[in-house]
Amino acid sequence: MLYHSTRSSTPTADSAQAVLAGLAPDGGLYMPEFIPGFDWRHCLTLDAQGMSCAILSALLPDIPNMKELVSRAYTGRFQTEDLTPTVAVGNFSVLELFRGPTSAFKDVALSMLPQLLTAAMKQCGAEKEIMILTATSGDTGKAALAGFADVPGVKICVFYPDGGVSRVQRTQMVTQEGENVTVCAVRGNFDDAQTGVKNIFAACQGRDLPFDLSSANSINIGRLAPQVMYYFKAYRDLLDAGSIRPGDPVNYCVPTGNFGDILAGYLAKLLGLPVGMLICASNANNVLTDFIRTGTYDRRRPLLKTTSPSMDILVSSNLERLLYLMSGCDTALVGHLMEALNRDGVYTVPQWMRTAIGKEFWAGFCDDEKAAAAIARVWEKQHYLCDPHTAAAWAVAEDYVSQTGDTRPMVVLSTASPYKFPAAVLSAIGGELSGNEFDQMAHLEALTGVPIPKNLATLQGKPERHTGVIEKEEMLNFVLGL
Ligand SMILES: *Cc1c(COP(=O)(O)O)cnc(C)c1O
Repeated sequence: MLYHSTRSSTPTADSAQAVLAGLAPDGGLYMPEFIPGFDWRHCLTLDAQGMSCAILSALLPDIPNMKELVSRAYTGRFQTEDLTPTVAVGNFSVLELFRGPTSAFKDVALSMLPQLLTAAMKQCGAEKEIMILTATSGDTGKAALAGFADVPGVKICVFYPDGGVSRVQRTQMVTQEGENVTVCAVRGNFDDAQTGVKNIFAACQGRDLPFDLSSANSINIGRLAPQVMYYFKAYRDLLDAGSIRPGDPVNYCVPTGNFGDILAGYLAKLLGLPVGMLICASNANNVLTDFIRTGTYDRRRPLLKTTSPSMDILVSSNLERLLYLMSGCDTALVGHLMEALNRDGVYTVPQWMRTAIGKEFWAGFCDDEKAAAAIARVWEKQHYLCDPHTAAAWAVAEDYVSQTGDTRPMVVLSTASPYKFPAAVLSAIGGELSGNEFDQMAHLEALTGVPIPKNLATLQGKPERHTGVIEKEEMLNFVLGL
């Protein structure tokens, strides 16, 4: 199947080449030329690995042996073999995406990406080593490091904003072992780190380097495609629970940063899954809320640090893919909009596009105070412990229901374990904040009885192996020196 950039319809790449390259040569994102026909009803009869295999085979047909790749990625690596369980909590269903090796939803995709990438390397006859460059707002970094550590033929370099991730997130990354891994802090925020990575791609275009670059961010279609599975899985869980009948539409509320997760939900809908409304939940960095409500995307505002750092983003890369789909694949229009964003920091989509987006997406935001109140409320009423990202989605889902009166079943995507953000969660439920992050985890466990995930408990005492901090202007030379 052919892929091309969101910004021009030539040149094309097959799906293996698209995964290998990460970003298209013109700086756009790879998209399939058309959404393939898909037997979504049959997909719903499969288990999580079967769903994953069916969806990935449809979206990335040039990568062979998908069943084996899926099995290698997931078997025995998650807390449960159904990978992403759905639990009923009050009036909503919570889709738990954090039961993987690093306790963040990114594990679903980043367990799979190394398999896809190494298969794509073989398929394309890649001769050079691959250097994976990744900017992280906290969770992608660790999940990518865990996925790619000691994978032959691949090196990985992760940049995170200095002071812009939680203490637990930082500890997870700087203690990472593996011969092929590098982690470095960048003075700046996530957008600086993400722009820096995109600039490195541009600067290396056409240069003869000892490695080829690729990306583990959701700009890579190989990172995005594995996320489609859990929308099907949650739907199947609701069917099994008797909460819906086949064909009933289901709403999904997604805590959103780079717009990858929610875009995967839209891809699930395009593949046929009966998705109702996709609700885009932001934190106080509410650039997407404004965009979906007004049609104007305006990043000219300060990036705020919040208790949900993985959503502290002003430039949501995957929105470009939505613009592409919603414009009827108008690459010239998308190119213009992205140029305006780079040049002026703002763009407005045509009214008809805004209307089309509004039919599929609803948006709201939730500041730290409101998220803390949601953590406390869900804990007190439902005895369910949410992390701050999930809590933001929960609160926005409640706003959606009360403002629209739409009572169709609601799935709230839960993207991280509360133990990745122990300070925020502890203070939300009225616990005392003392000691370091590990003391706080222990205190939270004692208070709630919710067990600390093993991968987080065992971080304590591990040596810090990656302590460098650089300026954003130094990122290119840093990578060239690896
Ligand atoms: C990455 C992340 C998000 C945002 O997902 P996007 O695909 O970037 O929109 C939300 N919550 C958590 C915990 C994350 O790690």
